[in-house]
Amino acid sequence: MSAGFDAVDIIRAKRDGGELSDPQIDWMIGAYAAGEVPDEQMSALLMAVCWRGLSPRELTTWTAAMIASGERLDLSGLSRPTVDKHSTGGVGDKVSLVLAPLVAACGAAVPQLSGRGLGHTGGTLDKLESIPGWRASLSVAEMTAQLEDVGAVICAAGAGLAPADRKLYALRDVTGTVESIPLISASIMSKKIAEGTAALVLDVKVGTGAFMPDLASARELAATMVGLGRAHGVAVTALLTAMDTPLGRTVGNALEVREAVETLHGGGPGDLRDVTVALATEMLAAVGIDADPAAALDDGSAFAVWERMIAAQGGDPDAVLPSAANVETVVADRSGVVARLDARGVGVAAWRLGAGRARKEDAVDFGAGVVCRVRPGDQVATGDVLLELHTDDPARFGRARESLAGAIVIADTAPATGPIVLERLGAAMSEPRPAAR
Ligand code: URA
Repeated sequence: MSAGFDAVDIIRAKRDGGELSDPQIDWMIGAYAAGEVPDEQMSALLMAVCWRGLSPRELTTWTAAMIASGERLDLSGLSRPTVDKHSTGGVGDKVSLVLAPLVAACGAAVPQLSGRGLGHTGGTLDKLESIPGWRASLSVAEMTAQLEDVGAVICAAGAGLAPADRKLYALRDVTGTVESIPLISASIMSKKIAEGTAALVLDVKVGTGAFMPDLASARELAATMVGLGRAHGVAVTALLTAMDTPLGRTVGNALEVREAVETLHGGGPGDLRDVTVALATEMLAAVGIDADPAAALDDGSAFAVWERMIAAQGGDPDAVLPSAANVETVVADRSGVVARLDARGVGVAAWRLGAGRARKEDAVDFGAGVVCRVRPGDQVATGDVLLELHTDDPARFGRARESLAGAIVIADTAPATGPIVLERLGAAMSEPRPAAR
């Protein structure tokens, strides 16, 4: 770390729209991670970045400084090529549960270091923790051994990986500086690059249930992350996928695990299978494996890897999963065709039923959530069940129902439907771009 910088000079430079030098960025991130720059100064810089953006060079250096704040895993000794997926988060997004064993069954190693959910999109670790005995924390040696043996691991990202991001993310959360494309990109990519994967496929969700509500901002986020990956030697491609309606039929931890298992048996909802196969195809292409992921779902090979992946982390793949003590239904108040099933409304309902947490330290109710008994385009008659609401605590039903106001629209005519995979951005699209804001 270079000495001799003044945090106030750096803040002023960015506030006034200037470009920071590489040594300034290295110093600021390093000194903040080390506790030598206080939160108030870093908050001011983050707000200046929200307004002024970072040039591609600044962003590459910022991300490198975040990676350098901790360890970078080296998975190059594995006998299989490594490839991971990151999703920006969506309602009912249980894709990782199916994808990791599926891609491993096709011959790659998938090191998926994940987080817990906060807010209306659930976390992959919370879902897996609904399986009795399953353990999220692994040492690097355990993770590497499982990758070599089983080919897939989903576990908690250790505290040593990009620790600057942990501190910065907590600060952004309380200073209104989360919504910045360069800061989001640096946050996600620093963790994925530090994890040591050779290739990465991004699932950037677009729509009401996603972080990015519109295609233009999703495109910009995807292109920024693809460019950052290239700058750090990781092959990155991105799929932009629709998130206006929950993915699949279930939202909530154990409910989603059941649906993922159905999909691993070759069944499951069509949208979940389609997104998973599209992502698997990208991942396999990224590491040069010529295999048919749809066949690996249908012939049981992906499910066999799932069983080994769960058992390797102490879980019992045959255990009965938790289910909620109370179930209520939402019924149609008229006949017609389901024109809209809003992902955000359903996600918030599941969260209020106990499936998600409001604060990091809250516990989740594994059985809680929502089952969507209908999809947009389905015909319904008055009184037909549209949704099932599951919770252990019946006092939660009222607030969950409130979040569903306007979320389900029944009309006279069928809605227009589009593909679930909206766009693809490849490595070739990551040429130098103007400063991102
Ligand atoms: N997820 C992350 O890991 N970081 C962000 O900044 C936003 C979403």
